[in-house]
Amino acid sequence: MCIACRSRLPQNNLIRLKQVNNHIVRYDGIGRSFYLCDECSTNEKKIKGLIKRFKENEERLVELLKELKKNG
Ligand SMILES: [Zn+2]
Repeated sequence: MCIACRSRLPQNNLIRLKQVNNHIVRYDGIGRSFYLCDECSTNEKKIKGLIKRFKENEERLVELLKELKKNG
């Protein structure tokens, strides 16, 4: 389930992430993870919501999402 829009989608349509020390990073198999769908990862409003929720830096998060999408 996408944490931003709560859509239930197949896992291959979701980006798997986790939070470490107030930063959102790509999930590496350790700890708790959460998912973000493709649509929300490019939706400015949803990204802004995540920034507030996780107290993340906007540029950093946008860059990370771009990179993860590029790499599949
Ligand atoms: Zn979503």
